[in-house]
Amino acid sequence: MPRDRFGRDIDYLRLSVTDHCNLRCVYCMPLRGLSFIPSPELLSATEIEVVVQAAVKVGFRKFRLTGGEPTLRPDILEITRRIAAVSGVEDLAMTSNGILLPRLASPLKEAGLRRLNIHVDTLDPERLTKLMRFGSLEEFEAGIAAAQEAGLVPIKINCTVTRDYNDGDVVELARRALEGDWHVRFIELMPLGGGETAHVALSQFVPSSETRRRIEGELGPLVPLDNQNPSDEARNYRFESGEGVVGFISPVSEPYCGSCNRMRLTADGKFHLCLLNDDELDVKKALRNGGGVDDVAEILLRAVTLKPTGHRLDEGVSTQSRSMFQIGG
Ligand code: SAM
Ligand code: SF4
Repeated sequence: MPRDRFGRDIDYLRLSVTDHCNLRCVYCMPLRGLSFIPSPELLSATEIEVVVQAAVKVGFRKFRLTGGEPTLRPDILEITRRIAAVSGVEDLAMTSNGILLPRLASPLKEAGLRRLNIHVDTLDPERLTKLMRFGSLEEFEAGIAAAQEAGLVPIKINCTVTRDYNDGDVVELARRALEGDWHVRFIELMPLGGGETAHVALSQFVPSSETRRRIEGELGPLVPLDNQNPSDEARNYRFESGEGVVGFISPVSEPYCGSCNRMRLTADGKFHLCLLNDDELDVKKALRNGGGVDDVAEILLRAVTLKPTGHRLDEGVSTQSRSMFQIGG
């Protein structure tokens, strides 16, 4: 397994396959002024396969498809099929807003996808439209049901907590973990990209401690799960009764940089070394100049070596070059 200069084992590659999205969450994508990667600049399914082969060769085992909205990529089934078929890929998951899953969940499962994280910020139909701007609660519920039916389990529900938009709605989402078997994770906002969405992330920030207090105040104490995976970005809990899990992802208030095990590939073929940093290494150039698995493996190992640690959000430093939808959350 590749180890970086801070002793971290890096074996998890998150692959962004598009910067397009069918939603416009207020903290992620502005409504105006967007420019997208031209299609010829996106890595093709075959190029993504080569990157995964290289990653496996140097010891990566876990892969996740993300975006933008990965299900918008017309060849998402081919990409999934190619990655799943690479010998040595132990886990292939996807992060999605779920809108297109009624059509795609079963074919994705057949193509080799194992698990899904689905993003729903609130169960309140009106506030959903304010925060995620498009999409209806019925569509999200249908997406979750389709994923369950297809066996893409366990599903994790991601909720990014945004003051004055959905900070009061965390209780109803957590209730699904108390009264049902949902695994719901509450994410702290990070300011990325320096523009309008970074401003929202800063001004509407809610610390996980506040979200947790609110949930416990209404639904009772949360008990830490035994056997937490140290590289899981979430701190996970359950209620004293109930089957579900409640997780908190707190990159701002409780940074977990010391146990970060991930590398990111952008849709336009750059290894993005740390979510909250601008450092990137170009892999597309090598691929398009005739490079193969060994060349990509060498770039990836260099990326691991150069991976920084310890974000500087408290000093106001974050990535300026890309927003979350351009890196892959
Ligand atoms: N479109 C898919 C989705 O929404 O799940 C995949 C990409 S999206 C960028 C992945 C996750 O990043 C979502 O759960 C979203 O809420 C989260 N996210 C987006 N912008 C964020 C930000 N500024 N801070 C924290 N999380 C963010
Ligand atoms: Fe789209 Fe996901 Fe960003 Fe929302 S968080 S705008 S669903 S990429």
